[in-house]
Amino acid sequence: MPPKIEIGPIVKLVKTDEEWKKSLTPESYRVLRHEDTERPFGKNLHDHKAVGVYVCAGCDLPLFTSETKFDSGTGWPSFWEPIAPSVIQTTTDYRMIFPRTEVHCARCDGHQGHLFNDGPKPTGLRYCINGAALKFVPA
Ligand code: FE
Repeated sequence: MPPKIEIGPIVKLVKTDEEWKKSLTPESYRVLRHEDTERPFGKNLHDHKAVGVYVCAGCDLPLFTSETKFDSGTGWPSFWEPIAPSVIQTTTDYRMIFPRTEVHCARCDGHQGHLFNDGPKPTGLRYCINGAALKFVPA
């Protein structure tokens, strides 16, 4: 079981684009700050199965735990629930023909991925996340 993590009040973390560029890997920078989507089935965390917590690669806010991770077959790390409702915020993304729900970190606003309604029980949700937007912290 991953450790129980208390999420307190979330204080926004604001950095300039230049500061983000310096503090992130090129791939994490493109995903988090410019809503890029990594290639599926890459070196990312899609088939990672260890017990622990997935934190935002931009600001270390805990976002998901291994308990809610599942194999969606998409090649991206997928979760059916965030660690707490407050850690994730959403917007509507119109970049494709059909609108999608964009998912980002509540602290640094870093783009994480998208939210779909075809996930498993108990929520029926699928948070489809870029591995480059996450860091794994073992339990
Ligand atoms: Fe963040």
